Amino acid sequence: MLLLKTFIPSDYANHLSDNNIMSITTRFAPSPTGYLHVGGARTALFSWLYARKHGGQFILRIEDTDLERSTQESVDAILQGMTWLGLEYDQGPFYQTHHFDRYKEIIQQLLEQGDAYYCYCSKDELEQLRTEQMANKEKPRYNGKCRHLPLQAEDERERVVRFKNPIDDVVTIPDLVKGDIVVANKELDDLIIARGDGTPTYNLTVVVDDMDMQVTHVIRGDDHINNTPRQMNILNALSAALPKYAHLPMILGADGARLSKRHGAVSVMQFRDDGYLPEALLNYLVRLGWSHGDQEIFSIDEMIEFFELENVNGSASTFNMEKLLWLNHHYIMHSDPAHVARHLSWHIGQLGIDPTEGPELIEVVKAQRERCKTLVEMAAASIYFYKDFECYDEKAAKKNFTQGSDEVLAKLYEEFSAVTYWNGEILHHIVLNVAETLSLGLGKVAQPLRVAVCGSAVSPAIDVTLSLLGKEKTLNRLQKAIEHIKSVN
Ligand code: GLU
Repeated sequence: MLLLKTFIPSDYANHLSDNNIMSITTRFAPSPTGYLHVGGARTALFSWLYARKHGGQFILRIEDTDLERSTQESVDAILQGMTWLGLEYDQGPFYQTHHFDRYKEIIQQLLEQGDAYYCYCSKDELEQLRTEQMANKEKPRYNGKCRHLPLQAEDERERVVRFKNPIDDVVTIPDLVKGDIVVANKELDDLIIARGDGTPTYNLTVVVDDMDMQVTHVIRGDDHINNTPRQMNILNALSAALPKYAHLPMILGADGARLSKRHGAVSVMQFRDDGYLPEALLNYLVRLGWSHGDQEIFSIDEMIEFFELENVNGSASTFNMEKLLWLNHHYIMHSDPAHVARHLSWHIGQLGIDPTEGPELIEVVKAQRERCKTLVEMAAASIYFYKDFECYDEKAAKKNFTQGSDEVLAKLYEEFSAVTYWNGEILHHIVLNVAETLSLGLGKVAQPLRVAVCGSAVSPAIDVTLSLLGKEKTLNRLQKAIEHIKSVN
């Protein structure tokens, strides 16, 4: 960099540093005070996409300085969510609690250069100030009482450190989503950057890390807009380069209120538990506030190719479960069945079933994908392939296990027993032949058979169902059903 600056006319150097040399670095910086929710996941996705698109770096930074509210459980949940979504990071996870020395150093630097000061105002004093300001209908803010005190490091009275925010002029956030946002410095009071116990506060730690990690694009929720001008002022005081900012609008529930637990699942891992594929959720999230023409379905590669922060919508978007479900079904239908099977395997395992005790999951996916919108549905609808059921669906049994149906099943049993090559086409012919031989409609044969082998009247086509089930399970279940019908009729 230095060499370039020496030899290249400055305009050209700037051009190079903007476009070629300074690579893009984004970060996702969650506070581990809960699970990874969809809002956080969308922020992570947009940051990840932007870095991937520009061949840049994506950093994961865990902002765990709030020791009371941060938990290891939340850290684990965030990491698990990122892994499940496939949002791999190039650097990190970094933990802010590991950087306390660095924050102290910067706080000291700001104190020494006159950009920060010790504030000795007591809680009571501040409370009284606040009450007065409220009574006068003024915006509550620190009045700068200690701003001009000489720096006295040895004065150990109870104190915090405040940043000396500029008083004049305005801060302009050149927001890539919302356009320029102008804030007057007089609206910003001198914020606390170190608490009474010396620990740094959020705005300080973010600034130091964004600076040290050379973050070029801060992409985050617009609930942070109020912090941005303060952070820009601190960065300026440190003579650090300002990153570009992109504030993402809120996600709302169907009722227009900010999306929260009461709207249903909001934790990323809950979507996994509910049977969604990660790419369906990613596709859903990418469209939440961003568009590329009227395209709805995006592969990961397309997301990377088309993603532009400039195309992010500045206003809030509404979470729509129906659309997510539709996307999920799309991905279940059109993804490589082997991929879907890998995810289905987890759900089958959750039901206490070992998927090696039945047909190949890939074949189950192919047989079931049309009728199942989630993997939870698919797993539940596939249990009978792996495990004998305890009882028959009452309605289905009543309707199909009628007098004489044991004889139909007995005939099928006889025919199936003789089959050496257990294959759908052969089984299909047997079912047709039995119907014909017994002069019955196909339904009168296929439905009792279905209930006998699946326990219910719903399954993929009977030949597919039987071929997946295998000869042994089919014959055993037919035997049981015959006995059952005899005992009830
Ligand atoms: N840790 C902050 C949060 O979880 C995000 C900070 C940032 O992105 O600057 O809301």
